[in-house]
Amino acid sequence: MVLHDQHVHSYYSEDSNEPLINYYLLAKKIGCKYFVTTEHIDYMPSMDNHHWLCDFDKLQNELINLYKENGPIPLLGIEMGYRIDYLNEINSLLNKYDYDIINLSIHDSGKYEYYFVSNFTELGIKQTIKMYYEQMLDAVTRIDKFNVLSHIDYCYKTVLKIDPNYDFLSDYHLIKPILETLIKKEKALEINVKVQKALPERHLYTLLDIYKSLGGVRLTLSTDAHTVSRYKEDFDKYIKIIKECGFNYLCYYIKQKEYHYDI
Ligand SMILES: [Zn+2]
Ligand SMILES: [Zn+2]
Repeated sequence: MVLHDQHVHSYYSEDSNEPLINYYLLAKKIGCKYFVTTEHIDYMPSMDNHHWLCDFDKLQNELINLYKENGPIPLLGIEMGYRIDYLNEINSLLNKYDYDIINLSIHDSGKYEYYFVSNFTELGIKQTIKMYYEQMLDAVTRIDKFNVLSHIDYCYKTVLKIDPNYDFLSDYHLIKPILETLIKKEKALEINVKVQKALPERHLYTLLDIYKSLGGVRLTLSTDAHTVSRYKEDFDKYIKIIKECGFNYLCYYIKQKEYHYDI
């Protein structure tokens, strides 16, 4: 079975212009059995003065129209950006649609967007990372309705721009309880190609070793593509690393039920 990419943004997301059909046709061409996009929901991100929302009704209609016999089966996904101050809105939207996969993410604290260097220099690297991981632990603890924690190491993409020698193992005490919570709740850890490409390769080996040593077995591999050219980018390379670290399957989700793809 040809694995589909489970973290993809189309023009239904605020920060992508890629038509849905372009992804669908590519997924069809490479023989994927399923097709999903995981559009952004971010309530009042600090860089903007409005919510990042998605018209899921319109998206579902377009998916129905795209589906052709012999084409991939369309699924509904979401990337929910967690914010404690929007917990009610988040829970209500997570219950509103019959998603196949829910990716949970941390992008923004409400005051700080973890993408920007300026936010890390204002508070200091250590303090910002602590805030990022405390927010993430809060997310995976409070939210039950999700399948995958996306890009656990998103913050280091920014940190390494300030300090290229930063050692993420110094934050092990912050990361460990998050991984333990994922394992206990039987949620998957996402290996995010976009983030991995910005980090040294040894980082991924270390992260996978830590996750495995804690008893983690559930992984997804996803690109976080915002353009069709990145769909399933470098999957072969990262599957090889994941296998080397002792994992022999990747998870995918349909109606939020977990399935395995052997690697
Ligand atoms: Zn994200
Ligand atoms: Zn994303």
